[in-house]
Amino acid sequence: MKTSRALGYALAVSLLLLGLLFAWASSVQHTASRLGVALLSIASSLAILYLLQRSKPVEVVQRVEVSGPIKAQEIRCPYCSAPLDLSLVKVVSGVPMIKCPYCGRSFEVTEEPKW
Ligand SMILES: [Zn+2]
Repeated sequence: MKTSRALGYALAVSLLLLGLLFAWASSVQHTASRLGVALLSIASSLAILYLLQRSKPVEVVQRVEVSGPIKAQEIRCPYCSAPLDLSLVKVVSGVPMIKCPYCGRSFEVTEEPKW
């Protein structure tokens, strides 16, 4: 997906350059045909750019909601017991995960049972 976008942009830019080259060359000779090619190239490059702009990647935002009141509790790494910041929580396929910056290991953030 990413490579096809890069390829599209490369194609659009080369078509634009080709169009400008033909427009410049039309001032020398074969004005009508070269101007036609120039306009066609520029128009198709703009069309490609428009299509690339329209098909932006979809951004999925996931929020973590905890049931019940949150106790301000320190999270500690279960492997090296380093204190961790809640801003490190990342949702990986629906599961809140924390990657410990000290030991580099990841673990799932779970709620403590309320009883
Ligand atoms: Zn750790």
